[in-house]
Amino acid sequence: MKSRVLLSNSHLSGKEKIYIQEAIESNELTYGNNLNVFQDSLESYLGNDKKIVALSSGTSAIHLALIMAGVKHGDEVICQSFTFSASANPITYQGAIPVFVDSEKDTWNMCPIHLEKAIKHRISLGKKPKAIILVHLYGMPAKIDEVLALAKKYEIALIEDAAEALGSSYKGQKCGTFGDFGILSFNGNKIITTSGGGALVCKNDEDKKKAIFLATQARDEAVHYEHSHIGYNYRMSNIVAGIGRGQMEVLDKHVALRQEMNNFYRNLFKEVKGVQVLQELKKGIISNHWLSCVVINEQETGFSREDLRLALLKDNIESRPLWKPMHLQPIFVDSAFYGDGFSEELFKKGLCLPSGSNLTEVEKDRVKVVIKKMIG
Ligand SMILES: *Cc1c(COP(=O)(O)O)cnc(C)c1O
Repeated sequence: MKSRVLLSNSHLSGKEKIYIQEAIESNELTYGNNLNVFQDSLESYLGNDKKIVALSSGTSAIHLALIMAGVKHGDEVICQSFTFSASANPITYQGAIPVFVDSEKDTWNMCPIHLEKAIKHRISLGKKPKAIILVHLYGMPAKIDEVLALAKKYEIALIEDAAEALGSSYKGQKCGTFGDFGILSFNGNKIITTSGGGALVCKNDEDKKKAIFLATQARDEAVHYEHSHIGYNYRMSNIVAGIGRGQMEVLDKHVALRQEMNNFYRNLFKEVKGVQVLQELKKGIISNHWLSCVVINEQETGFSREDLRLALLKDNIESRPLWKPMHLQPIFVDSAFYGDGFSEELFKKGLCLPSGSNLTEVEKDRVKVVIKKMIG
């Protein structure tokens, strides 16, 4: 049996071990230098005076963002339907109600036209949404200007889910820095990892302080333990941050390698009618190409998404259908949805291909052979 080729795997720099060891030797397991250096390096990487709070996951970062945006029980929150469930689940942690919005054809992210329809309709029902969760899926920057303009016009908080988009940018500004809050993920399969972790991107020190307060059990200032708020245990540990510290040193390299993988697929499918590779359509938009994705139009190609997936699987190569939209998920079928079915079409015809920054030439060749055979 040939070795497994994964969709996206962790890719260490070699420095992680040193930083973890440093934390152990100084007996700083919970808080300490790794956490500070990791947060500082993320802040300087993202720029725009943003403040970072390192957390236990991207999901906890979304939860905190919702709390800080003032989302309470019974409130409505608009969320991109075409995403991973972790974008939407925290809405329900707050006892709030998700309202899903479809994607547009250029970036596969939230459609500003359907977004405005949704906002207007919810307002007409007396249910003005409290927040909007915009996702830069697969690393592709969404239509940020349009969505920001609507968030401003209707005075709704914007939460940018940049879990898959660290290193992506829009008109020279890094994804995750546009909203009232941004979130990042350092799960094992993301562009950089801390083994498991996330971060909240805040617009100022005051928000950062409040986020840390909430993430560390909301202890009021007192000698004893005094609580006037419900708290959470969401902080990242100094051990885990040591991995992140090592990963920051190779972030740009990993982004470049993922972008190279995207070029690899663009070249492979260049002459093939009926296969669309997700790519940037406008100048000034840069995707980290966390995952490279294709949409296959069977009428034109003569083979389906499933045909390609199974052919790859036969050679022990992992690929995966695009995200199943949230409005089609059993847990969210009763939620309101605004759209025209585009994300559903993506789900039916789309496939994520091996995209890791550490794929070997041999592995890439194996992928190429299977695809070449399929496209004939
Ligand atoms: C990975 C991911 C998350 C959640 O991050 P975790 O760190 O796994 O909790 C949220 N949104 C999107 C789009 C993701 O891909």
